[in-house]
Amino acid sequence: MGESDEVSINRFDDSPDALRQAIDFCGGFDRLRKHFFVLIKPNVCVGRNRNIPPFGVVTTSRFIELLIQILMEEGVRDISIGEGSIVTAMSNTMTAFAYAGIDRLSKKYGVKLIDLNRGPFRKISIKGFDFELSDAVFDADFVINVAVLKNHFQTKVSLCMKNLKGCLSKKSKRECHKRDLERSIALYNTVIPVDLNLIDGIYALINGPWIDSGVPRRSDLIIASKDRLNCDIAGSLVLGVDPNDVAHMKEFSMLKSRSAPLCEVNIRGEKIEKIRVQDRYEQNDLFQEIFQRGGIKGICFPDPGKSICSGCFGNIMVALLIFCQDNQGILLDDAEIIAGKERKVTGNRNVTLLYGDCAIENNEDAQESKGIIKLGGCPPTFYRTYSTILKTLLNEKEADRQLFEMISLKTKEKEFSFFDHLEPPTFDIRHF
Ligand code: SF4
Repeated sequence: MGESDEVSINRFDDSPDALRQAIDFCGGFDRLRKHFFVLIKPNVCVGRNRNIPPFGVVTTSRFIELLIQILMEEGVRDISIGEGSIVTAMSNTMTAFAYAGIDRLSKKYGVKLIDLNRGPFRKISIKGFDFELSDAVFDADFVINVAVLKNHFQTKVSLCMKNLKGCLSKKSKRECHKRDLERSIALYNTVIPVDLNLIDGIYALINGPWIDSGVPRRSDLIIASKDRLNCDIAGSLVLGVDPNDVAHMKEFSMLKSRSAPLCEVNIRGEKIEKIRVQDRYEQNDLFQEIFQRGGIKGICFPDPGKSICSGCFGNIMVALLIFCQDNQGILLDDAEIIAGKERKVTGNRNVTLLYGDCAIENNEDAQESKGIIKLGGCPPTFYRTYSTILKTLLNEKEADRQLFEMISLKTKEKEFSFFDHLEPPTFDIRHF
């Protein structure tokens, strides 16, 4: 293992010094030149109501701000921040930049914000998988990948390698889920150039990828490496995940003919044993967690697996979060929701909602008359999602009342008491 493979882990102390030291320790700026066009790729995967806290979900604007300051000290002037976020009625790349507070950096430092969803894209075929990848990452002279420290229900961790999915077109992102998500992540990482990988660990998110089911922790860590795999190995260990159990990391290692077991990395700085945010990651039932937070019984949402993509996931998560907030403690009439391509209707529930085209196609024998409701769309819009959930689970009068209330209130003003315990100084919204 050469020097360029080293990982540095430092404590975040809200100054540029710790970040600068982490970058210096791993030789992160060795190749950087003043005249370079630098592209920063944060993880701002989604734009949401700011009353749904972003801790551990998206890269903090504070971390990006310190990075910009350090780059400017190096004399770099041509800096852009690029992301291709989930697109729904309420989310797009620009609302995601606002959710993370990154939009204000554009005005303050004169950096450009690039929506990678808009293209142009180049088509690249790797081992029979076709990808449309944003030209911006190839046009940049120096790419800095800034992930968040979080678990992900589909891939165990969402770190540097998964973060680069934001460089794909919307079509390619969907296809990753339809084909083989973990293999796709490994494959696009063989061609997307990255010069420096950073993990923003000011907050970690256990049971992510979103706070709806996740448990954020203040962890004050910075992980840095020129090598994306080693950076992710260190991040996994901090998250209590054995890197050898992360399929996309194993696959990438094989594709790159790297034979060492995925835990042997040279780490400078903090000792993993002392900074782990959890000893062992246990994958929880994401949706059951949301129902439990609302004290709601009589409903199940079986794990949709790796085939559900962000469009369906994004809309139904928010719709259920609002539903659970507004209907705390109720007992439902033995209902189930099926989404993605991997789940079959159980047939023993009083009511089943088949959510999205994938679930409907995968259950084409299911007949609507037998307590089965089908909501098509790829994905179904948020409004149709939310109104169908209300009409499926509540009586007509109550469903109409709640729908009217939500329309008058506007979703972005909705408040969520589930997160009231995330208070300063531990959880500081000024980091976003
Ligand atoms: S129906 Fe939903 S899960 Fe299936 S491809 Fe469309 S958005 Fe993705």
